[in-house]
Amino acid sequence: MRLISLSLCLFLLLAPLAHAAGFRITVLGARGGLLDGNLSAYLVRPENDPNGILCDAGTVLNGIQTADQAGAFSDLRLPLNTPDSRSGFILHDVIRAYLISHAHLDHVAGLVLVSPDDAQKPIYALPSVHAILNENLFGSPVWINMTDRGNEPRLGKYHDVDLAVGTPVSVPQTALQITAWPLSHGGMESTAFLIGSGRDAMLYLGDTGADSVEHSTRLHALWQAVAPLVRARRLRGIIIECSYDNARPEKLLFGHLTPRLLLEELNDLQHTAHASLRGLPVLVAHIKPSLKTGDNPEKTIAEELNAGNTQGVRFTVAEQSMSLLWK
Ligand SMILES: [Zn+2]
Ligand SMILES: [Zn+2]
Repeated sequence: MRLISLSLCLFLLLAPLAHAAGFRITVLGARGGLLDGNLSAYLVRPENDPNGILCDAGTVLNGIQTADQAGAFSDLRLPLNTPDSRSGFILHDVIRAYLISHAHLDHVAGLVLVSPDDAQKPIYALPSVHAILNENLFGSPVWINMTDRGNEPRLGKYHDVDLAVGTPVSVPQTALQITAWPLSHGGMESTAFLIGSGRDAMLYLGDTGADSVEHSTRLHALWQAVAPLVRARRLRGIIIECSYDNARPEKLLFGHLTPRLLLEELNDLQHTAHASLRGLPVLVAHIKPSLKTGDNPEKTIAEELNAGNTQGVRFTVAEQSMSLLWK
């Protein structure tokens, strides 16, 4: 009897872990410019699992400290034998890899700044993104080469891993798989990452323009790729940019989205998938702050998105330190 109740206890204890899927998302940085302590960086982990990946790295250490002070990492227990502070532990042992969508500074500044005190880990990106980072940042006069590629001397702390479009890769030391899809960002190649955890999936999109403005089919190709996941109700959420409000003229978008264009793209996803998006969480990222008195781009963009939300998705404007569970 005692053996049976012990096994039952063990089963109840382990069952949630065995079925752990879904995603815990912690926003380390939310904005698309200006604010140096709050730039695009989204930590993604499977639920109940400390080991995650950082999608873009505009702000890293300030994002970790601000989010930790706000209680966003209350699930994390510091190992007894670590010399690290809580921030050090999260930087070294929770962020197991970086996924960089493109080389613009608001997506890599935090990575560069923490690199002298970071642990060994891989940087996943499309080859074009690695090439720009290695020619113009790591190993250029701007910063020492922390990677294992490009100009000597190479410190090799970061292992550059090229992603092939549409080919899933498992991220070591995590339970996550990632697949890259190219995006068109005002003449620059950016990246969407499809992230898998068990049977669940979510999308993180780096900066992107709409197909109609970019004269591109890349977003449509991404929607085609994820359509089966939408139909199977396995896509748990989308992190996507909406940099400007609808008043911004198209010729000044520089490869970004407005509420009208984001809604147009979600409409295309719905049509391509032949499935309802009702209730799908959409985290709105990369809003450009305004320095004009009275301007509130977060409020305007949220209002414009909700006013046109015929698909019934659940829009949330990303804020630093936000912690979301998608499952
Ligand atoms: Zn950006
Ligand atoms: Zn950009």
